[in-house]
Amino acid sequence: MIAPSSRPAIFIDRDGTLSEEVGYINHMTRFRLLPFAVDAVRLVNQSGYLAVLVTNQAGVARGYFPEPLVEEVHRHVHHRMAEGGARLDGIFYCPHHPSAGVPPYRQNCACRKPKPGLLLQAEKALGIDLPRSWVVGDRYPDMQVAWAVGARGAMVRTGYGEGELAHNAPRWPQAPDLVAENLLSAVERILREDRVA
Ligand SMILES: [Mg+2]
Ligand SMILES: [Zn+2]
Repeated sequence: MIAPSSRPAIFIDRDGTLSEEVGYINHMTRFRLLPFAVDAVRLVNQSGYLAVLVTNQAGVARGYFPEPLVEEVHRHVHHRMAEGGARLDGIFYCPHHPSAGVPPYRQNCACRKPKPGLLLQAEKALGIDLPRSWVVGDRYPDMQVAWAVGARGAMVRTGYGEGELAHNAPRWPQAPDLVAENLLSAVERILREDRVA
């Protein structure tokens, strides 16, 4: 049952969408927020939507970096957002991989995008209206995870986005609901389309 007070969310992918896509972030020094990231999240905060980060971090399962590094990166993100007057209402990540590494990280989990586990965790923790929500990301699995919960998907051209659109889009069974230059323009367009009371 959905609480009457439940709000929709704009789920935001991390690498390639909120931060630069540079391959695995195996050290803090490799992590760089994209220049519009704080402005985009602040804009979400000022709307009726929750701002929720959802990210696959299979580098943990692969043994490329320890799970506490993921937490360190996310503390840094929270800090940078707070400095800019913005706030992520939640951060959810999947450290698993179905075939790499050793258990418990090696598992066929329910939370590795495009499976919807991260969104369902967020729904449970924050009371989110999923059908009115969006996922913004730079890869097709970010669109699939949106559709898996009845939400909409917005594709950005940052990170892998430009290449995904150039080379893979013709084979996609379903087109993204929206294609935008970057996270900020995606948020602006989502807010223009859907006014949340
Ligand atoms: Mg990405
Ligand atoms: Zn997982």
